Amino acid sequence: MDTIFDKIISKTIPAKIVLETPRLLAFHDINPQAPVHILVIPKKKAVSMDELREWDDATVGQFFKGIAEVARSVGLNENGYRVVLNTNLHGCQSVNYVHAHILGGHQLSGSFA
Ligand code: AMP
Repeated sequence: MDTIFDKIISKTIPAKIVLETPRLLAFHDINPQAPVHILVIPKKKAVSMDELREWDDATVGQFFKGIAEVARSVGLNENGYRVVLNTNLHGCQSVNYVHAHILGGHQLSGSFA
């Protein structure tokens, strides 16, 4: 079933795109939780972080390198940032298409839960 992120990739619905490559799409979160809040999704679909187990190592690596490249492209590498992959029920994943949140632009709190 198509999720909202499938529709953003196919450009059926708009998004504020930060970076697009043949392998990934990065766009601003519609409900930002920090001054910079970007979502990074691979164009190859996986439902969640858990499903990345089934990917070959190179493709997983490309996704994670892509996240770092997106963060660098908006200058977050200098002061730092947080990457979050909410996964399934207890992780409060609300969109069933794997996505990494990049949060930054100010001092984040040290708490996780
Ligand atoms: P999660 O709770 O980890 O599944 O995160 C889903 C994220 O997608 C939330 O932070 C939402 O604000 C964000 N989101 C939902 N719809 C859109 C949209 N159309 N464009 C950008 N971000 C969205």
